[in-house]
Amino acid sequence: MSKLPNSSPRYQASRRRFLRTVGLFVGVLGASLATFLPVIAKWVPARLRPPGAIDEPEFLASCIKCGQCVQVCPVEAIRLADIDEAMGIGVPYIDARAQACDFSCDAVQCILACPTGSLNHTIVKKEEVRMGLARVASPDKCLATQGLGFKGQARGADFQGLLRYTEIDRWNPIPVRDHPYDLALCDLCVRECPIDNAISLQPIDTEGKRKMPVINEACVGCGVCEMICPVEPTVIVIDERKMWGEGTA
Ligand code: SF4
Ligand code: SF4
Ligand code: SF4
Repeated sequence: MSKLPNSSPRYQASRRRFLRTVGLFVGVLGASLATFLPVIAKWVPARLRPPGAIDEPEFLASCIKCGQCVQVCPVEAIRLADIDEAMGIGVPYIDARAQACDFSCDAVQCILACPTGSLNHTIVKKEEVRMGLARVASPDKCLATQGLGFKGQARGADFQGLLRYTEIDRWNPIPVRDHPYDLALCDLCVRECPIDNAISLQPIDTEGKRKMPVINEACVGCGVCEMICPVEPTVIVIDERKMWGEGTA
């Protein structure tokens, strides 16, 4: 068979096809590997995972990034990590300050929807969830600790977050900005916590005018307290995957 000259149109077209094919192959291979790199290299930054997430290495390995948990969440708390959010592309996480899990689905719907068991199916009640543990990160900035109240929209007029207010409509979460407060002493973290006895305000002076939030063992790490705190930056943060008894809360 005769060899085509390098400058011939057929040779150039064939070369372009070859380079396109190689480029496509490398791209597909790279994208596939990127999904598994976190498992190999443990490059994934610490994140709050959806309720019921099994241990991090197993979670990263077993989650197929199908987005079923994202679809069923009534407050759209669960997001899929994007390519610009470090490694772990497509892995579900929750940014509690932006939108916490408020359990307004009533029955941990994300766990029920997960087809792989990456969200542990043996957990059926919100009280059994352990996403992490709330921590009072800056007690001196807390309004209650200073004896101050709070009036207005907890996170301002531009905040997009939703919350279920059972006294308004237990089935429909509404924007936090549509539910202003007028409190003599701020207790938003306690008032809006969806878990009984997870957080309380305890007096820190003899008159009881100043109080401090205290995290209790029932805390499931849902992040509602982090989301609703009106102080910027938030006084309460969630330590993801931390369990009660691992250091001080
Ligand atoms: S438990 Fe319900 S509200 Fe919380 S993340 Fe899952 S689906 Fe959303
Ligand atoms: S919501 Fe924030 S400022 Fe208010 S009591 Fe709780 S931690 Fe303090
Ligand atoms: S204190 Fe309540 S609102 Fe805050 S993370 Fe724990 S369970 Fe959720």
